[in-house]
Amino acid sequence: MTGQKRIITKSLVMILVAALVLLSGCQAKKEKEESPVSPMSKTPDIKERLAKFTPTEMTFPMDILSTEDRQVLEKLVAAARGIDTIFWKQAYSEGLALKARLEKSTEPADQDYLHFLKINFGPFDRQDGNKPFLGTAAKPAGAGFYSPELTKQEFEEYVKAHPEAKEALESSYTVIKRKDGQLAAVPYNEEYAADLAPIAQALKEAAAITTNASLKAYLEARAEGLLANDYYKSDCLWIDLKDNRVETVIGPFEVYEDGLMGLKASYESFVYINDFDEMKNIKGYIGFLDEMQKNLPVDAKYKSAKAAGLESPLNVVYEVFTAGDTKAGVQTIAFVLPNDEKVREEKGTKKVFLKNAIEAKFNKILRPISERVLDAEDQKKVSFYAYFNETILHEICHALGANFITLPDGSKGSVNKALKEHYSAIEESKADVTGIYSIPLLVERGWIPKDKATELYTTYVAGIFRSIRFGANEAHGMGFLMQFNFLREKQAIIYDQATDKLKINWDKIRDGIKELAVALLTIEGKGSYDDAAAFIKTYGRMDEVTLKMIQKLKDIPVDIEPVFLY
Ligand code: ZN
Repeated sequence: MTGQKRIITKSLVMILVAALVLLSGCQAKKEKEESPVSPMSKTPDIKERLAKFTPTEMTFPMDILSTEDRQVLEKLVAAARGIDTIFWKQAYSEGLALKARLEKSTEPADQDYLHFLKINFGPFDRQDGNKPFLGTAAKPAGAGFYSPELTKQEFEEYVKAHPEAKEALESSYTVIKRKDGQLAAVPYNEEYAADLAPIAQALKEAAAITTNASLKAYLEARAEGLLANDYYKSDCLWIDLKDNRVETVIGPFEVYEDGLMGLKASYESFVYINDFDEMKNIKGYIGFLDEMQKNLPVDAKYKSAKAAGLESPLNVVYEVFTAGDTKAGVQTIAFVLPNDEKVREEKGTKKVFLKNAIEAKFNKILRPISERVLDAEDQKKVSFYAYFNETILHEICHALGANFITLPDGSKGSVNKALKEHYSAIEESKADVTGIYSIPLLVERGWIPKDKATELYTTYVAGIFRSIRFGANEAHGMGFLMQFNFLREKQAIIYDQATDKLKINWDKIRDGIKELAVALLTIEGKGSYDDAAAFIKTYGRMDEVTLKMIQKLKDIPVDIEPVFLY
């Protein structure tokens, strides 16, 4: 789930945007002439669009914070607020002007447009392929990073003709402008200088307050890094943070907003507090990894002797405030940073789970889904405990199964290389299913309380519909659809016509999960591209029952809109 999900969803959106822009190339010329202050066309269904996002308070345990923590937190939130302004500019050059205009409007309906504009950081609906809900101008593929009429072809040709400027032009941390008939790469710290000064100042003030040496060093270096447009040193110090309750990531990171070249990084910030108790819980799971690997129901030739190492340490935090890129549209529940390859090689990465964001989505989305699709008895057993633990289990179970395998040509390679475009759906399913398969073992070892086991199964089945309601175009959605169809075929999940709901068949669910685990682990262990393709073809289809269930979920919000306490 989580990090990858966000990446995949966002890049899909970008592909859609790029396609739309290409298709409407001739239209774009006409629309460009529209001034942002001329009367705008407005989509009539703004209330329905707003209803897809349910405002939710992002709560966290205040009582674990010391006076010093709270003072630092205030400074970090102040710094993050400045990030919003920069991202408005990055997302769309006219965004802030539109926002100011709607804020001044006395027309009551404009408040809804303003609200939706803020959710999307601009007049383009991120849930609807970035089509405009305000005005008719199309979103430039290069968002606010490039001179608006610049095409991919022109950019590439210019770079080819100016090799001396290639590095600056292609840098993740420059914007591209036209100057005297040439393309100029303007560094972020120059372009956003006025916005960055108070951000850096707030970070320095936070550094002056904290008595945690690692946090102080990081915040000072980050403030300098933002002003110098150089993030290497502070990225490394972020990995080294130790024993600090309060923490932030802040700066330009992901490049998905740049639909033209996929080069330019968007500013964002997460301000959060570490949940040390939950991190201990995760360490406990990792302690069982090798035993879980041994316990997998396939021949030794289809699994490695030991579980693979985890790609990055797992952290659990409470989100206090977010800003910029990450706040636009669908909310992140986990992230892996930093993105800089050099830092990744030298220091690795951290994976951070935002526990209260996960809980908010559980309460506002997954629980209502479970009420519509699950039989009343099963539905009672759906819990946040189960959902959160499954999220963690999924993540660590990517390490299970075969790591390096013998490829069809006799060479050694990764499963990913062998399964190609089918890898993601199979691998995501494997992580889900091997986690659920391990429940009886973890109960036996006393790690999962016995009375929680049923919650894990019911919550797993409800979770299937959280993913597939958006279709099977994305690896997680396809993965869950396959799991659902397989388990129904094995009668581990039964559709009850009388109640029009799904029921877990408690006599068959464990065996069904076992057979599913065997199927997926064998495909990966063999590295068989053809078997993967056949499995997806057989089980990746939407039948009448599935469509009927999805239909029932239409009015359940798509996501939360975070409301911050700070
Ligand atoms: Zn995953």
